[in-house]
Amino acid sequence: MQKILVSRCLLGEKVRYDGKENLIDHPLMKQWQEEGRIVGICPEVAGGASVPRSPAEITEGDGHDVLIKKAKVMNVRGDNVTDIYRDGAKIALKLAKEHNIKIALLKENSPSCGSQTIYDGSFQGFKKQGHGVTSALLIENGLQVFNEKQLEEIAKLLASGAVETK
Ligand code: SF4
Repeated sequence: MQKILVSRCLLGEKVRYDGKENLIDHPLMKQWQEEGRIVGICPEVAGGASVPRSPAEITEGDGHDVLIKKAKVMNVRGDNVTDIYRDGAKIALKLAKEHNIKIALLKENSPSCGSQTIYDGSFQGFKKQGHGVTSALLIENGLQVFNEKQLEEIAKLLASGAVETK
């Protein structure tokens, strides 16, 4: 059965930078949990970040640039926290490989988990198109990454059988 790698904050776990969560209350989530499809990960906590922690943004470029060391992740205090984000991404990919996961459902806008948009590095609340560090690494390794508004797309993909494992 194809499992889904899911941001832990979307599962209601208080792992966000501000100690809060982003629970998705949706029948599909309950169904996937009952089916045993959900594998949770918070890349930032896995990479060594504390809860709470200072908010961080990718300064120039996106997660792909961070992976090739052309961009950094800085927190609002001016600390370079890139290693935490890179390590967390590697742990997420290892977990995906262990479970043969081809689908991820990750929280949009996060410097780790964003799959369409991320904050632009100015800490002014502006967003730009791009992948977070974990999303970038997963995508580079063949996973399809969706956000919390794309549950139906995941359901269609699962129903198609295109990503089912034996
Ligand atoms: Fe949620 Fe991802 Fe941020 Fe962890 S790193 S709190 S899972 S968005």
